[in-house]
Amino acid sequence: MNARAAENSPVTTIRNAAANAKMTVTRLRGNVSVLEGSGGNIAVITGRDGKLLVDAGISGTRARITEALDSLSNDPVKHLINSHWHFDHTDGNEWLHSVGAEITAHENTKKHLSTTTRVEDWNFTFPPVPSGALPTKVFESEQTLHVNGATLALKYYPPAHTDSDILVEFTEADILCVADTLWNGHYPFVDYSTGGSIDGMIRAAEANVARVTDETIVISGHGPIGNKSELIEFRDMLLTIRERVAALKKQGKSCDEVVAAKPTADYDPKWGSFVVNGDFFTRLVYAGI
Ligand SMILES: [Zn+2]
Repeated sequence: MNARAAENSPVTTIRNAAANAKMTVTRLRGNVSVLEGSGGNIAVITGRDGKLLVDAGISGTRARITEALDSLSNDPVKHLINSHWHFDHTDGNEWLHSVGAEITAHENTKKHLSTTTRVEDWNFTFPPVPSGALPTKVFESEQTLHVNGATLALKYYPPAHTDSDILVEFTEADILCVADTLWNGHYPFVDYSTGGSIDGMIRAAEANVARVTDETIVISGHGPIGNKSELIEFRDMLLTIRERVAALKKQGKSCDEVVAAKPTADYDPKWGSFVVNGDFFTRLVYAGI
């Protein structure tokens, strides 16, 4: 499948965005903060056991990440969790490991980072990462960590955005990191090359809605810090567009014909202005129906 005849890879788009972005730091609650501006969002919990990060950002922004981390506390970085294997969440693995972070991830994250991986829809081939960038601890379905006085529940999503996505819940603070199963206010990328699918994305979106309350703070993979109503809005967008594309495909239309019919038109102004525009998202949905 080649859903995108791409001369410009979204990988380049994301790297360039990070190169020019300002790093913002938002303190939430329970010593948990969020860094935005280096690929995927980065959650941080500070404390006596050392900082724990959820996701590693883009390595080219190491200086700005370091500055942001230093602004929170003096604790060294001791732990890193990768929410999934994608470069915009794991690019910083090597330097974070070099300064002392153990890296925890789903076993498929380690698998994909260990080998050459072609993402056709990004028109990009990722070489294996250096050994120092590989997760040092992997798990299959669930794991609980106790760090800095907090309980962290890690749980594998069945294949959704990729086949390596995990949620990370800061239980006492009631903060849920949902990885790239939520792009808050943006159409999501869906990585069919490593097990993702539109139906998997919808299942994960349903699971996220079921897991949170109105009080839960939701940290998306991309986009602003969110909440339950934004999880619902995202799920409903996925369901509506899947339904529209499925109806057109059922009429026998080709992918190009469905894209030409603009089934996402009324959603595009809100959702289509980041890495994935309406046409690209339509192709990603069509590929999975
Ligand atoms: Zn991703």
